Amino acid sequence: MPIYEYWCDSCRRITSSYRQNSAVTPPLCPGCGSSDLKRIFSTFSVQKTYRDVYEDILSDRDLTQGMMRDDPRALAEWNKRMSGGEKSTPDYEEITERMERGEWPVTQMDKKRKEFSSQGEGKSESD
Ligand SMILES: [Zn+2]
Repeated sequence: MPIYEYWCDSCRRITSSYRQNSAVTPPLCPGCGSSDLKRIFSTFSVQKTYRDVYEDILSDRDLTQGMMRDDPRALAEWNKRMSGGEKSTPDYEEITERMERGEWPVTQMDKKRKEFSSQGEGKSESD
């Protein structure tokens, strides 16, 4: 069963949860009991393991502190990293859903990667 991650807007914490698929109702936030958790995209962390990415983020003090301060840029950065450097877009949701059905939309992913790299954010993805 895959691990999905959810972000709680109320208390700013991330919850990891085993779900059968993304359509399953998100868990309640263990911190505040909120049921309004947003799913964080982590499906595309195919090159690094989930744990690698997670520890990479947690070791980035600027990023974690930014998140504690409710800095939207930090949140965006988190999402970006958890999604393997991609942006979470409706397109991506569709791709994610397809992958969860066992398909592997290589062409779409490749296109997205090219789009992303052509945006040239300066920050190099260490690998
Ligand atoms: Zn909460």
